[in-house]
Amino acid sequence: MDRTALAALVTARLRDVPDFPEPGVVFKDFTPLLADPEAVAAVVADVRDRFGGRVDMIVGIEARGFMIGAATAYALGVGFVPIRKSGKLPRQTHQACYELEYGTACVEIHADALTQGHRVLVMDDVLATGGTAEAACDLVERAGGTVVGVDVVVELGFLKGRDKLTRYEVSSVLVI
Ligand code: AMP
Repeated sequence: MDRTALAALVTARLRDVPDFPEPGVVFKDFTPLLADPEAVAAVVADVRDRFGGRVDMIVGIEARGFMIGAATAYALGVGFVPIRKSGKLPRQTHQACYELEYGTACVEIHADALTQGHRVLVMDDVLATGGTAEAACDLVERAGGTVVGVDVVVELGFLKGRDKLTRYEVSSVLVI
């Protein structure tokens, strides 16, 4: 499927939910995409075309990054590592915190999840301000991995998340 057709398919499988989780935010719900096996296969094939053979681990960001990241890891025949919100991973972790509009958020990776030289693709559903992805890349590097790229399904271009990720190859199916 070419990228224009893929973007149209993803657009058709996204639902805008106004004022969720708080007033003023339009939440991009991709659960209809997940429910469509052809759409998931097309998104995964697109990632495989761009990153196949260049990565040997996918790191997915809680929680929707687990869904698309694990499917992609399976298709690429590579491993999957979760980055979770603080306090969820049971063993020793590295932690990275970043600013939200109100307050801070922290995410963690198991300290032994990666070994030196692991080539990593970081995956999530949506790139918004980029703080979460930037923290995820920081964790990958502190755990010994090399970030080959950051891949999301939907990029909210007006929030300029890419500006925080200039050191990395960033790709998305759809820029809104
Ligand atoms: P940010 O750190 O601002 O780039 O936010 C990215 C994280 O928040 C991702 O894990 C997304 O799943 C989630 N997120 C942020 N904004 C939205 C949105 N408008 N719709 C859906 N998810 C969002």
